[in-house]
Amino acid sequence: MERRSWAEPYKIKMVEPIRITTRAEREAAITEAGFNTFLLKSEDVYIDLLTDSGTSAMSDAQWGALMMGDESYAGSRSFYHLVDAVRDVYGYEELIPTHQGRGAEHILSQILIKPGDVIPGNMYFTTTRFHQEYAGGTFADVIIEEAHLPASTHPFKGNVDLEKLRALIDGPDRIPYLSLETNVNMAGGQPVSMQNLRETYELCRTHGILVMLDATRAVENAYFIQQREAGYETTSIAEILREICSYSDGATVSSKKDNLVNIGGFLALRDPDLARKARALLVAFEGLHTYGGMSGRDMEALATGIREMVATDDHVRARVGQVEYLGNRILKMGVPIVQPIGGHGVFIDAAMTLMHLDQELFPAQALAAAIYRDSGVRGMERGIVSAGRDPADGSNRRPQLELVRLTLPRRVYTQAHMDVVAESVGAVWEDRDSVRGLRFTYEPDELRFFQARFEEV
Ligand SMILES: *Cc1c(COP(=O)(O)O)cnc(C)c1O
Repeated sequence: MERRSWAEPYKIKMVEPIRITTRAEREAAITEAGFNTFLLKSEDVYIDLLTDSGTSAMSDAQWGALMMGDESYAGSRSFYHLVDAVRDVYGYEELIPTHQGRGAEHILSQILIKPGDVIPGNMYFTTTRFHQEYAGGTFADVIIEEAHLPASTHPFKGNVDLEKLRALIDGPDRIPYLSLETNVNMAGGQPVSMQNLRETYELCRTHGILVMLDATRAVENAYFIQQREAGYETTSIAEILREICSYSDGATVSSKKDNLVNIGGFLALRDPDLARKARALLVAFEGLHTYGGMSGRDMEALATGIREMVATDDHVRARVGQVEYLGNRILKMGVPIVQPIGGHGVFIDAAMTLMHLDQELFPAQALAAAIYRDSGVRGMERGIVSAGRDPADGSNRRPQLELVRLTLPRRVYTQAHMDVVAESVGAVWEDRDSVRGLRFTYEPDELRFFQARFEEV
């Protein structure tokens, strides 16, 4: 049968009730939370699109695997299952398990970066850049210009600009490695093409620069390559993923995304010497080298999730299909969103929506709060608050993208839930002139978006 739909390749076996609140309850909750959706209690949220991180629904096979976890302190059987899964699916020999993605970023940054180094990357990611700077390095953005333009429909907005990269290589600074993110989160879940991966790897190799993937969303990237890049139409997601990883020397992965578990992550490497250095730090910061930051059952469920995410192409087709369904509904109402619709969420252009607010009045923060107030749908800010301050002069970094992210957990919500979300975005859009700007009442020094508090101006 010719496939006509992205409909889910699973059915629901267990349900979790969610609470529908009144408008008065939501008014009180968002004020109490200082207009920061991160500070809301999940009990006060109806449809939670804060993040796709650690919010996936596990399969019956994964729940079964939890019971098979080996909790031995050293040499756990579950660790070896995880090593095998990473070798088979990603193709990396050396596995360093961590409590989540940032644990892997910390260790990678510490073993490779010396003070004064420059680390190019295809757009920053919050925790990744933090760990690069914490190790004494400086991040340099080498993503193509289209990535900064919400309305550009370039099919591979995650691509590295090879000219920008060459200019950096010719510059005075030492470059230990290039940090290459698949399906770039901050650009709106936008993919890198296989051709760009190949060319970037070649260029780096000629100059003795390592390529380290942030492969957190590499499966979603593989799906877009299959859909959009000539020559990959009939290649399986599993094969495309292996090829993506072949153009790198290692990867950090937050297993809370593609890998379909609620906690976990890893650093994967090819070079055994580098892996030895990483393990020496692992025991100090995370845990023994055969569990890192995870329990045996976490590793068992993760090994199962890694195999499941590529076992059929239907899994990722349904995952991205649901995101595209929501995005297309919102787009039809005339609301400006990042295009093409990304792999893990819909990104509303808050700057274009709230044109009456200057960026220093935090339009995306205000819009996320307004959507919550309307319907109990929780999204999050990805704009000037997330970008933080410039360490050099303390001013707000003013990113070109000022977005509200509606991120879809994997295998959690239904199509009817997506209709509720689209209707709420539409209602706030109609009433957008009434949304007021915000100012800080509390601003943390690092990763401020997590805990900052605001009041309406
Ligand atoms: C989530 C994420 C991370 C950080 O991973 P955690 O598991 O949250 O520590 C790093 N990079 C990207 C692209 C991510 O999406």
